[in-house]
Amino acid sequence: MESAGLFIDGAQRPAASGATHEVTDPATGQPWLEVALGGAEDVDAAVAAAARAVGSWSRRPAPERAAIVRQAAAIARERHEHLAQTESRDVGKPINDARVEMASVADVFDFYAGVVRGFGGETLSVPAGGFDYTLRQAVGVVGLITPWNFPGLIATWKLAPALAAGNAVVLKPALLTPASALEIASILHDAGVPPGIINVVPGRGSAVGEAIVGHADVRKIAFTGSTEVGIGIQQAAAASLKRVTLELGGKSPNIIFDDADLEAAAVAGVEAVFGNAGQDCCARSRIIVADEVHDAFVEALVAAAEDFRVGDPADEDTQMGPLVSDDQRQTALDYLASARDEGATVACGGQVLDRSGYFMRPAVVDDATPEMTAVREEIFGPVVTVLRFGDEAEAVAMANDTPYGLSASVWTRDLGRAHRMARDIEAGVVSVNSNSSVHTGAPFGGWKQSGYGRELGLESLRAYTELKNVYVDISP
Ligand code: NAP
Ligand code: MG
Repeated sequence: MESAGLFIDGAQRPAASGATHEVTDPATGQPWLEVALGGAEDVDAAVAAAARAVGSWSRRPAPERAAIVRQAAAIARERHEHLAQTESRDVGKPINDARVEMASVADVFDFYAGVVRGFGGETLSVPAGGFDYTLRQAVGVVGLITPWNFPGLIATWKLAPALAAGNAVVLKPALLTPASALEIASILHDAGVPPGIINVVPGRGSAVGEAIVGHADVRKIAFTGSTEVGIGIQQAAAASLKRVTLELGGKSPNIIFDDADLEAAAVAGVEAVFGNAGQDCCARSRIIVADEVHDAFVEALVAAAEDFRVGDPADEDTQMGPLVSDDQRQTALDYLASARDEGATVACGGQVLDRSGYFMRPAVVDDATPEMTAVREEIFGPVVTVLRFGDEAEAVAMANDTPYGLSASVWTRDLGRAHRMARDIEAGVVSVNSNSSVHTGAPFGGWKQSGYGRELGLESLRAYTELKNVYVDISP
């Protein structure tokens, strides 16, 4: 079994308590990594190291920080295959998906290395005799808390802008999947990020997570995870008025009009909800299809679902690996059973594979109605529900009939309708004739209970800075 320590103040170390935790390979159900299990004392050490280091890092000229972040991109490319193998094993994700994600890690470092050099404040108009400008300065010590579904990628979405902008970070990866965050920390260290600027403390949310959120010297929390935990973090952070950004759950609609390319929509529709075994905050888990094409579309969807290759994540051909844990699979199976009990039809899928690991066939649920549990709640597994609509207004109402608002897709060849839908859907991200939600240069995040704040693009750099206004009397 491999082993890994905490990463604090530029070096690996055991937990102060000496505790360790066995991390499971979801494809076998067997442990593959023994990781140091951090606690509150380790968070104190990490925050202290970050607080000592942050002043000189934030005062380094942006081009110097940018050069280090760009070097991290180069090292991430050199170590790409190792990173991908690590992520695939830790999460159970198909190796080719892991390769795409780990290539994106390098791209995100490159992006922030570039844009931070052109990033800054403004010069503002004031009456004669004055000169006014704004500064964008690092927040300070920032706590990053991340989930298990895209662990390396989501950590990088936060690390790259936070570090480029001059902050020091304490990152808590999900304990189910801590490996890639530790690998990325050592990449940043090798690229020249000074000791104390990046710290990674694997541990439980109830211990390490709460210690970070409660720490007096942490000024901001950037969290990605469930809405339930996000609400608790916002409440806890209120005590010290920490800045908080939250990327939370979703129940995203995929709307198919009668003029859509049904074949393309069905193939993309399957990828959009069964990719990463449905454990994707953007999963288009509510298909909302026009009455006129319902039967033809569901036929194409079921055919695409049945073709979806479930198997060993290490196989090049695999499109869907296991779920991350036995619990996560059981949750998906329970939602599927609830849909059947509430009167929906399971058109295909839902079988548990007869092998070790947490595999199941992806399921299509037809004849769903808006009040069903499986339609209302985030499943975070490979189960899609199909609803039908009559006219455009009904499609909009159904799409927005959810507490969430992360992403949405619209399939139509009618240009005006596509833009009306993009305007009327309550979500942070809308894609037209596509299932794609995430682009490094574009903002990503939610409305409503999907959270607030944005990852990626320039928005994210702003979120890791404080704004200062400076007024100078220049009268003679
Ligand atoms: P989660 O249970 O909310 O956990 C997320 C992270 O928070 C983990 O590192 C967890 O630690 C930690 N945590 C748990 N309790 C905490 C507490 N009281 N204080 C501080 N930290 C705490 O979510 P998950 O099960 O990992 O991920 C699935 C959820 O994330 C889904 O709802 C999904 O939609 C959402 N998600 C959203 C996005 C987005 O960008 N909007 C992206 C991906 C996922 P441990 O689990 O290690 O104990
Ligand atoms: Mg794991």
